[in-house]
Amino acid sequence: MEHLAENSLPSEASAAGDARNPEMPPPLLILTELNPMAIIEGVMLDDGFKADEEILSCGQMRETCPHCPSTHLQLVLRQKAVKLAHLFCPQCTRCYHATYEDGSPALALP
Ligand SMILES: [Zn+2]
Repeated sequence: MEHLAENSLPSEASAAGDARNPEMPPPLLILTELNPMAIIEGVMLDDGFKADEEILSCGQMRETCPHCPSTHLQLVLRQKAVKLAHLFCPQCTRCYHATYEDGSPALALP
């Protein structure tokens, strides 16, 4: 009986040691509320924070706002009036810093 060795190539995942199970949920982000005044050029008004410049968001996140369960946070990267990448809630205008469970920053960019 002959074995077909050429058909049993080692899988790429087994060598790396971080085989990702596609059924595993993505890692949860830990959200820490930020003072928008500290990271965005703008003013605090009675109805929320108002940035000096229009803030461009880069897309909607899977995470929802801790204060607005039905509102998904938006990713905001550094730009003219924004000093730090963060997650923004368009509902309550809160800003959040996101880290992984191990404390490493989730929005760190080179
Ligand atoms: Zn909110």
